Amino acid sequence: METAIEPQVEISAAQQIMDLEREYVLPTYARYPLVLQRGKGCYVWDVDGNRYLDLLSGIGVNALGHAHPRIVRVIREQAGKLVHCSNLYYHEYQGKLAKRLSEISGLQRTFFCNSGTEATEGALKIVKAYGKRISPEKNEIVALESSFHGRSIGAISITGQPKYRQDFEPLLPGVKFVARHDADALAAAINERTAGVVLELIQGEGGIYPLGERMTHVAREAADRHDALLVLDEIQCGVGRPGTYFAYQLNDPVVLPDVMIAAKPLGAGIPMGVIMTNEKAAGALGPGQHGSTFGGGVLACRVALECVNILEELLPRIRTVGAYFRSQLEDLGRKFAFVKEVRGQGLMIGVEMDFPCKQFVNDALAEGLLINVTHETVLRMLPPYIITEREVDRAIRGLRNVFRKAAKNHAKPAV
Ligand SMILES: *Cc1c(COP(=O)(O)O)cnc(C)c1O
Repeated sequence: METAIEPQVEISAAQQIMDLEREYVLPTYARYPLVLQRGKGCYVWDVDGNRYLDLLSGIGVNALGHAHPRIVRVIREQAGKLVHCSNLYYHEYQGKLAKRLSEISGLQRTFFCNSGTEATEGALKIVKAYGKRISPEKNEIVALESSFHGRSIGAISITGQPKYRQDFEPLLPGVKFVARHDADALAAAINERTAGVVLELIQGEGGIYPLGERMTHVAREAADRHDALLVLDEIQCGVGRPGTYFAYQLNDPVVLPDVMIAAKPLGAGIPMGVIMTNEKAAGALGPGQHGSTFGGGVLACRVALECVNILEELLPRIRTVGAYFRSQLEDLGRKFAFVKEVRGQGLMIGVEMDFPCKQFVNDALAEGLLINVTHETVLRMLPPYIITEREVDRAIRGLRNVFRKAAKNHAKPAV
């Protein structure tokens, strides 16, 4: 009997997993060669048992860290009871969660969906319907350059970054973009044909860039003057991330939007998005004008309700540990000439370099840190809200090594 010749080199489990995806998954993601298997608190482990400090939380999603005991408990319990029942019927948790979200946001009503992009789409429909009720010409939208609002045709139509748009044009008509620091241009762009103004108060994909109070005030004032809706995209900068429930609550006095969209951390890893509105904006949509099969499912609502309850206890911690993290990064940054600025609020932190720094992601991986680079030159950190000062110290030690290596390679020595 003939025996098959066994291959001499054994392919690792991680390599097999990566090869399988390369063959069968649509190649829309440039992934790092890391296969994650489990997580606990602020740490994750790969299939080979290596441990990493997670400073990115799945791009701001795993905000309570991994395997949070209270989240694990409600998922287990609800999974054995009822996961989904459709929006044809009521269940115990949608109304409870909507009430809780109203209390923390100051906005009366919630529509439930499953992602940030879906929330953006729904908000665009509200804006369009609102404008149309006033006049057929009132259909323009004002958004900002360097913004990011999701990946659907509607969402990229209001996303002010060519790289997300160019292959899909022509997009929705009637969208005007304004430079993100230019409050006068923003005021000038809003007129009687404007149905909505969409802003991220801290731009995420745009490089962790806080807009500043003047932009918020100008947007609110001009939207009111021309009867347009002010929509705030809090998908990345909201739900506890800035140390308040929402970024607009950092302003004193608080300037409420008409519509607010949130998603990423809300379901603690379970897909969940929301569109929240005041009564004025809610009046734009009636029965049958919008819907979602999965939106507001039992499991997702129950988990999000637990997430919001945990968040209430974490907010003060987010502010103190966030301030500590930023001050440590500023200290570190002063030692390296290529560090231009440390920006952010709470646990949404960006460190801008004076050169494209994608390589930092791989260097940090070698130091056992998960980080990300956005807008070419900005090191982005969105750590879990449960991160401790000790874990911040560990992150700083790793980043110091990453920066030292860069200082050598770029011949821009440490001062
Ligand atoms: C991530 C993000 C979105 C899109 O959310 P998805 O859940 O990926 O669809 C929209 N807006 C902002 C500000 C985001 O950060």
